[in-house]
Amino acid sequence: MRCLALNASFEPLTMVPVRRALRLIIDGKAEIVETDGDGMVRSISVSVPRPAVIRLVRFIHVPRKFRRQVTNTFLFARDGYSCQFCGRRHHELRFRECLTRDHLVPLSRGGTNDWTNVITACSSCNTRKGNRLPEECGMEPLRPPHEPHFVHLAWAVRRLTPVQARYIRLFYGEETLRELRAL
Ligand SMILES: [Zn+2]
Repeated sequence: MRCLALNASFEPLTMVPVRRALRLIIDGKAEIVETDGDGMVRSISVSVPRPAVIRLVRFIHVPRKFRRQVTNTFLFARDGYSCQFCGRRHHELRFRECLTRDHLVPLSRGGTNDWTNVITACSSCNTRKGNRLPEECGMEPLRPPHEPHFVHLAWAVRRLTPVQARYIRLFYGEETLRELRAL
């Protein structure tokens, strides 16, 4: 089992191995917020309850670039597995069509891979848009792309214990937790 690490602000940050969590606690860098039942873990010098949720004592600034890593898996999930130009979903695509990543401002024209510049597009729409800006070809996305705030947690969410899930819910809300579970 892994331990959910919260920032000093209680923002859920990531899952860490219990051993790493213990190190942080012993070094005074984190405190235990929730324990996992009655279990104790022992190191050479101390014995502490097995942590399920820890909180960093000092706020750490998480560089934005770590949160901005856009993989196609999360990009397609964010957009509901549908082309943001023609609206067709993955299963409605024709033979040899597929979902792709489209850059609203093309990379060749200074566009980035940030969440707000990438959208899911079927291969046909992507080809049609080509190297143009949305306003040049009249292809505006159905929904303006946004940066989801929960991406860095999504990979771990299915393995959360109920106690850990409570902290995700507290911070992000029930809806986000549901969305994450559906990924
Ligand atoms: Zn399309």
